[in-house]
Amino acid sequence: MGASAPAPDCGRCDAVCCRLTVVLQPEDRIPPHLSARTAAGLEVMARDEEGWCVAVDATRMQCSIYHSRPQVCRRFAMAGPYCLEVRADYADRNARGIPLRLY
Ligand code: SF4
Repeated sequence: MGASAPAPDCGRCDAVCCRLTVVLQPEDRIPPHLSARTAAGLEVMARDEEGWCVAVDATRMQCSIYHSRPQVCRRFAMAGPYCLEVRADYADRNARGIPLRLY
């Protein structure tokens, strides 16, 4: 990354973490129409053609199931090492015009 990037803030982010693969855990209670099964047999949050989790409310840029979101999402720390890494990768791909595709 070149010039200093703005500090991470979920209110100003493109929901980059909500484009990552979210593997569901047995204790997660997700409406069936929001989940999918990978070729490897993992149950995950379903994603749309652009890679966004289908639970993203695009109008409000918020998780539409925030209070019952998966454990993986609950553990994702804003401004944590993984957040910073995926934001940097996203910014780099956008700068080079490469569509984000994580699986
Ligand atoms: S369930 Fe909610 S927090 Fe988790 S990836 Fe989807 S939109 Fe984001």
